[in-house]
Amino acid sequence: MARVAFLGLGVMGFPMAGHLVAKGHEVTVWNRTPAKAEAWVAKHGGESASTAAKAAEGADFVMSCVGNDDDLRQVCLGPDGAFAGMKAGAVHVDHTTVSAQVTRELAAIAAEKGLAFVDAPVSGGQAGAENGVLSVMCGGEAADYARAEPVIAAYARICRLMGPVGAGQLAKMCNQIAIAGLVQGLSESLHFAEKAGLSITDVVEVISQGAAGSWQMQNRHATMAENRFDFGFAVDWMRKDLGICLSTANENGASLPVTALVDQFYKEVQGMGGGRWDTSSLIARLRR
Ligand code: NAP
Repeated sequence: MARVAFLGLGVMGFPMAGHLVAKGHEVTVWNRTPAKAEAWVAKHGGESASTAAKAAEGADFVMSCVGNDDDLRQVCLGPDGAFAGMKAGAVHVDHTTVSAQVTRELAAIAAEKGLAFVDAPVSGGQAGAENGVLSVMCGGEAADYARAEPVIAAYARICRLMGPVGAGQLAKMCNQIAIAGLVQGLSESLHFAEKAGLSITDVVEVISQGAAGSWQMQNRHATMAENRFDFGFAVDWMRKDLGICLSTANENGASLPVTALVDQFYKEVQGMGGGRWDTSSLIARLRR
């Protein structure tokens, strides 16, 4: 069992940190808004600290799950940041979805301080975090990954090292690129069903068994039929992710025409007031 700090108790981090306690790890949490850390301690019984640096003191592993590149820099760097508190040889495992570039930048700073850094973005959403069945894509040194993997296992169904630091984030970009076009296709299919006078439930019952089936179809068709999106993975977060995918594609030469188009569709959903709606809200744009 390890001493673990967990930084960022949002939709994802709150349940992930809980699974660490359930597996017997000694957990100290930190959250920018202290009320969430208090609620977490009341539920799970670990400890909370007043800064990221204090939470990281004495920890073997520091996990983080915050917002974007700048948020991650803030949590890691500076006098109150995690790196200031970590002991030599400790491993920072970051679960935030960020650019590969910021993970390389932070890994280099960590290395200068004798710390290890593994990027480990996740897929599986809120339900995956709550049920401890996330897919975790990692980048880093093989030896650091080997140490971190049994800890990450507390909330993972699959965890894999994809390559050097940054490779986990590149794999997560593949995930978001695959989802973007798929959700638009699903939205168009269900929108067409409505226009054709068919029952979405009947259509999905049949076509989900064949080649058109997907996690999104299985888990989102019912709420899409009800035009309900007040849950799940927020459009604002998806736009952050697609922005990272598109700028990385600019660098590596990948052609992502559909991803670029769907990103603009999500911009329109934001304009409809849907920044916090689930990504399946692409269908709401078609129904306008
Ligand atoms: P969330 O519910 O909005 O929580 C964000 C967390 O990050 C909060 O604890 C927030 O603290 C903290 N935070 C943000 N900026 C910070 C800063 N500058 N300094 C310190 N703390 C900061 O988000 P989430 O849904 O858990 O997502 C977290 C990350 O996982 C994102 O990168 C997201 O893209 C990724 N992700 C999310 C999902 C999903 O389905 N939700 C799935 C896969 C990946 P406060 O409480 O103080 O605001």
